[in-house]
Amino acid sequence: MSNAIFTVPKAINEPVKAYAPGTSERDSLIAEYKKMLNQEAIDVPMYINGEKVYTTNKKPMSPPHDHKKVLGHFNYGDASHVEKAIEAAMNAREAWANLPWEQRAAIFLKAADLLAGPFRNKMNASTMLAQSKNVFQAEIDAACELIDFFRFNVQYMTQLYREQPESLPGMWNRLEYRPLEGFVFAVTPFNFTSIAANLCAAPAMMGNVVVWKPAESQMYSAQVIMELFEAAGVPAGVINMVSVDGPTAGDVIFKNKHLAGLHFTGSTGVFRHLWKEIGNNIENYRSYPRIVGETGGKDFIMVHKSANAAEVATAIARGAFEFQGQKCSAASRAYVPSNLWPDVKRILVEQVSSFKMGSPEDTSNFVNAVIDERAFDKIAGYIDYIKTQNDAEIIVGGTYDKSVGYFISPTVVVTTNPKFRTLCEEIFGPVMTIFVYPENEFEATLQLLDGTSEYALTGSIMSNDRYAIQVATKALENAAGNFYINDKPTGAVVGQQPFGGARGSGTNDKAGAAMNLLRWVSARTIKETFVPPTDYKYPFLG
Ligand code: NAD
Repeated sequence: MSNAIFTVPKAINEPVKAYAPGTSERDSLIAEYKKMLNQEAIDVPMYINGEKVYTTNKKPMSPPHDHKKVLGHFNYGDASHVEKAIEAAMNAREAWANLPWEQRAAIFLKAADLLAGPFRNKMNASTMLAQSKNVFQAEIDAACELIDFFRFNVQYMTQLYREQPESLPGMWNRLEYRPLEGFVFAVTPFNFTSIAANLCAAPAMMGNVVVWKPAESQMYSAQVIMELFEAAGVPAGVINMVSVDGPTAGDVIFKNKHLAGLHFTGSTGVFRHLWKEIGNNIENYRSYPRIVGETGGKDFIMVHKSANAAEVATAIARGAFEFQGQKCSAASRAYVPSNLWPDVKRILVEQVSSFKMGSPEDTSNFVNAVIDERAFDKIAGYIDYIKTQNDAEIIVGGTYDKSVGYFISPTVVVTTNPKFRTLCEEIFGPVMTIFVYPENEFEATLQLLDGTSEYALTGSIMSNDRYAIQVATKALENAAGNFYINDKPTGAVVGQQPFGGARGSGTNDKAGAAMNLLRWVSARTIKETFVPPTDYKYPFLG
């Protein structure tokens, strides 16, 4: 039994390695990348109750930048595997929920240290291979952000547990933070390895058991996540990974009375569908399932006439095109005042034209491939559409080629139509649409921006005029859950900029913050009276 109130190590953000030429970190990561690229084809199992489950239905995995190369296969399951995963989770639940919190904390602190050390190269290299991230994008996601999620969430967990009510004389009021009474379904997107792991780890850390369905295009790095959990000591059955098609998983999961929560990140349409499924089954559940979903975005850069053109162009170049624009936070629309446009255009076209595109193995490539053929065709379709419109013009990019990998050149579109389709819809690729507004119509343009898309995830204001910054901050109060001043709208860091958006962009439960962890517990209030009364009569009755 614990007989002390423990404090946990203070969380500090994991330093981002630079991977500059000649550094040992760069050499060892590229060596790991090559080793994994050329190793014997791997066979990624499902993980149910701590056991590796293989099937005869095997699906190939290839790097998006080299789609003819087969890295291996993953095993595709069916409804019976989902049933088994739920059963395993429910069987593991009691022991896990009753494990003292410091033991759970230790597991995830160990996962952080393993990832900062022996797992770092493997996690980064698998993310470069599976999701076509360059070394820097892999490092900030798969290593640093995930390490931060583990360490900061342990700290937030203890802060949450410390929240206790007042007690008047004669009584003691206590709050305990019970895990949810059932299992959590984690459904994760392809684009961040850290999000995939965190959507399982956050509920598990709070004492919950999890059934996890990763995106099919992330299976190669998903396996490394399961290896990390295992090495850190997550017990069998606590986190179960199934690779099945979404509707098949949903059909079993959403009908199960023990569903206690959905931890989702992905597109808005899928999230709305899953929410409806839960609604349709609401009478069948033992408790009301917690629904947490972080979804799409149409993230903006709003520029005031006082801004610096080079700063604006650079924010657009990085914010829109890093990781091929496949970040939920990626800038995909910008509103530039007419006085700055000639300079912004010149610098932006110069910068974007200088990007190198290709495999992440060549670290001089700023841009790599988009995730798969479906995404490629969808983005190429948008580019084709733009080319047929007479109120929009492509000023750089606009080409694509899937002969070797799914490569789309970073594309900048300028439109004279403030409601042009690509100013409204999430494309999730390297396409930035710019609307140039009359420089003295700043406030009207803020209203326009606010009403143009259904999303409200991230956005920024660039200005050297403090009054204009204040006006934009107020006018765009509900247009973004993460709002930046004189910065690009990407690159949120755990512990520094809690992340999430509202409106069509999600439930805004801020991943990597105490707010998120609160969703995975059900508080029980305990009131203890020390000397109970012995007569029912209150004084007023006399
Ligand atoms: P997606 O919606 O296509 O898929 C997400 C997950 O849902 C995958 O695991 C997929 O297999 C699963 N899924 C799809 N249909 C399902 C169904 N009927 N039942 C159960 N599961 C189902 O998203 P994606 O392409 O992997 O990721 C890109 C999207 O994610 C973008 O819209 C992006 O903005 C969003 N995203 C948001 C955030 C955020 O924090 N707001 C972060 C990352 C990504």
